[in-house]
Amino acid sequence: MPKLYNIKNWTRQNLREWMDEKSKSVSKVQAFRADQVFYWLYQQRVESFAKMLNIGSETRKLLTEHFRISSLVKSDSLKSQDGSVKYRLQLEDNQSIEAVFMPHTSHNTVCVSSQVGCGMGCDFCMTGTMGLVRNLTTAEIIDQVLAVWQDLQEEQNLRNIVFMGMGEPFHNYKNLLQALEILTDEHGFNFSQRRITVSTSGLLPKIRRFGKEKIKANLAISLNGVTDEVRSKLMPINNAYNLEKLIGVCREFPLESRRRITFEYILIRDLTDSIADARGLIRLLHGLKFKVNLIPFNSTTAGKYLAPYPEQARKFQKYLLDHGVVAPLRISKGQDIQGACGQLVVSTTA
Ligand code: SAH
Ligand code: SF4
Repeated sequence: MPKLYNIKNWTRQNLREWMDEKSKSVSKVQAFRADQVFYWLYQQRVESFAKMLNIGSETRKLLTEHFRISSLVKSDSLKSQDGSVKYRLQLEDNQSIEAVFMPHTSHNTVCVSSQVGCGMGCDFCMTGTMGLVRNLTTAEIIDQVLAVWQDLQEEQNLRNIVFMGMGEPFHNYKNLLQALEILTDEHGFNFSQRRITVSTSGLLPKIRRFGKEKIKANLAISLNGVTDEVRSKLMPINNAYNLEKLIGVCREFPLESRRRITFEYILIRDLTDSIADARGLIRLLHGLKFKVNLIPFNSTTAGKYLAPYPEQARKFQKYLLDHGVVAPLRISKGQDIQGACGQLVVSTTA
C-alpha cells in the first residue's frame, strides 16, 4: 500500500492543486472540495473522512486512499490553580512536546511548541538544556491546537495562539509558515492574524524574511538583556547578532497599523532587574513601536539565577510605566505546574 500523506501537512492551496490534478482522472472530484475538507478538519474538527458528510463518496474514497488524519496522544496533563493546563503530547516517533492552555475571561490562549527541544542554548531556559532533537512538522504544530481544543467546554473558544512553547520557531521556518497559513485560513481555523504571536530569540535573517510574508502575525523578541555583555551571557545568539544589529532590524520591520513589537524581558535578581537596566531598556528601544512583557524569572532546576524580589520587579515596572512604556508584569501562569515559560522540558526518548 502506498504511504499515506498526513493531510494536516497540506495547505488548502496544496490540496486544491492535488484535487485539481485528480479531477482529470476521477470524475466528481473537484478542487473546491478542498475548502470543504478544511471546514471539516478545522472548524468541525472531525477525525475521519467518513464524517465529512457533504463530500461525495467518490471523493472521500480518494482521500482515504491517499491521506490520513493524525492526532496527538495526551500522555499527561497538569492543571494549575490558575486554570491553565499543561499537556504533554506524544508524537508518532514517541518523542514528547508540551502545549499549555491559558484561560482568560475574555480570551483563551494556547501556547504551542515548534520543535522538540531547542538548539539555542539560552542559559536560563529549561528547554535549552535538551538541545535540539528535531523540528515539528506542520501537522504536529496544528495538532497541538486541536488537542487543546478537544478539552474545552462547549461555550469556550480559543482566540490567541502564541509560539512560546518549546523551540525556536524561526529555526523551523517553513513548517511554521505553513501552520500559520492553515491557522489563519478562512476555510480552516480562521484565527485572526492579529491574534497569533511568534516569539524568537532573535534570528535576524528570519525576522527580515518574516516581515515580508503575506501573513502578518505579531512578532515577539526575547530580549532579556540591555547590554551585549549581559545578553551574550544569557543568550548565545547575541554573539552572532548583537543588540545593535537586532534593534536595527526591528527598526526596519514593517508593522501593520496599530501594531507593535513585543519585547520579552526576564527579570533576574541582580542581573537584569536594576533601575539602570530599566533606563537602558528605554534608551535601547527608543523610537520603536513596542511594548515590553516583563517576566519574573521562573526558577529552573539549574539554580544559577534567582527570581527578582517582588518589590524590585514592581519598581522596574513602575519606572517603565512612568516613562510611558506599556509594560505588563507577567505573573507567569502555571508556575505551580512547571508550565510557565522556560520550564517546558521533557526527557527525550530517542
Ligand atoms: N524560543 C523562543 C520562544 C519560546 S521561549 C524565544 O526564545 O523567544 C518563550 C519565552 O520564555 C522567552 O521569552 C524566554 O525568554 C522565556 N523564558 C525562558 N526561560 C525562562 C525562565 N526560566 N523564566 C522566565 N522566562 C523564561
Ligand atoms: Fe530556545 Fe527560547 Fe529557550 Fe532560548 S529561550 S533556549 S530560544 S526556547
